[in-house]
Amino acid sequence: MGMNVCVIGAGYVGLTTSAVLASQGHNVQCVEKDQEKVERLKSGHVPIYEPGLDAMVQSNVNNKQLIFVPEMREAVKQSEIIFIAVGTPSLEDGRTNLRYIEQVLQELATIITSYKVIVSKSTVPIGTNEWMEKKLLQEGLKQGQFDLISNPEFLREGTAIADMLSPDKIVLGVKDASNVSLMKQLYHFSPAPYIITSFNGAELIKYASNAFLAVKISFMNEMALLSEHFDINVQDISEGLKTDPRIGPLFLQAGLGYGGSCLPKDVSSLIKQGEEVGYVPQLVETAQRVNEQMVEVYIDKIKQILVDPKHKKVAVWGASFKPNTDDTRHSRAIQLIKRLVELKSHVQVYDPVVKLEWNEVTEYNDLYQAVHGVDLLIVATEWEEFTKADWNLVKEKMDGSMIIDARNVLKCSDLEKYELQLVGIGRG
Ligand code: NAD
Repeated sequence: MGMNVCVIGAGYVGLTTSAVLASQGHNVQCVEKDQEKVERLKSGHVPIYEPGLDAMVQSNVNNKQLIFVPEMREAVKQSEIIFIAVGTPSLEDGRTNLRYIEQVLQELATIITSYKVIVSKSTVPIGTNEWMEKKLLQEGLKQGQFDLISNPEFLREGTAIADMLSPDKIVLGVKDASNVSLMKQLYHFSPAPYIITSFNGAELIKYASNAFLAVKISFMNEMALLSEHFDINVQDISEGLKTDPRIGPLFLQAGLGYGGSCLPKDVSSLIKQGEEVGYVPQLVETAQRVNEQMVEVYIDKIKQILVDPKHKKVAVWGASFKPNTDDTRHSRAIQLIKRLVELKSHVQVYDPVVKLEWNEVTEYNDLYQAVHGVDLLIVATEWEEFTKADWNLVKEKMDGSMIIDARNVLKCSDLEKYELQLVGIGRG
């Protein structure tokens, strides 16, 4: 039986949650405070690039399983479960900005008059769900009028729908285990194992997961930097590690480092949370330091090739923080482009979905046009179309013959036959 669900926030997480729950028979009202976004969504236009999301939103809007509204009052009143999926960005000092969560709580407290289950999906620091519960009581709700559940989200942009339909686990931080059955009813479509823990436990699982991924990436970058000194191909090292089931096959790619809307902000936040309680997670802090140096590592490579990048024409393929998304938050590709602009290079950019619309760079709608007349091409995001490029055509269009593969995804053998020279990291 479909349940009445309200999702607050129509970003990557809220929109995917709404579409997936609607596709599984629930009646979903998605609340978004950005009026323009709501209008676009109502007419079936998804404002973000996420493969498959457009079609899923459209079909569920058409069959009235999913509606978008700019105001939460009626949606909250009519729903038994309320998801909070608003952003929790970084403050300037690296701590988490809980402003949007706080605004939602204040508003919810003025609306709720009958029992609701409030599910917090946003990534929030340890202790936040405890604080949220207290805040709702302070704002006037009564004990027994609501239950709060922490249900952090682990979807990856680019594969968000599949990740939400078949997550590898469902984490629930609860005070009262009696709500678990309600959540199982909601997620009836998923055979994933449940991890039932405390509020604080659920919050730390989310941060630990992102911190671990950051450590893995930075570890591989350290191996790549070491490999450069010993003339070793770091990809052999990755292969050697991948086969070990204790290590696992993913996130072992050296390159520009991690970016995006989650890893950098969650790593910073975890370090700050540690500082506040008097224990700094040292591995995590080092992973952040290693990550921060990676753009400069590539700038040094660029300087070695171009000597002086000033007035040189450089093409950059990729602006999103990773392939199959338009998300540019904390994108390493963009940091690299900014550094090249600072160094006064003429930068020609191509990304399959991102349009930067900056005056300082020239953008192209075609990857081959973007390399026209350039001294150097840099692959900054590993979109599949870059790895399948027609290198003969690339060579014809370029003035130079050097390619920096800042994601270690190209094959030397593909490029050598066209007399293109590949520079990666730790490629021997
Ligand atoms: P986002 O910035 O893309 O979307 C948040 C949306 O919430 C925005 O559209 C904003 O306008 C809306 N909003 C803010 N306040 C509102 C209010 N009072 N009422 C209605 N709408 C409101 O954020 P996101 O990437 O979807 O992330 C949301 C949360 O999920 C964050 O805590 C993030 O860390 C976490 N998370 C994100 C991902 C990811 O891949 N993006 C994955 C897992 C977890």
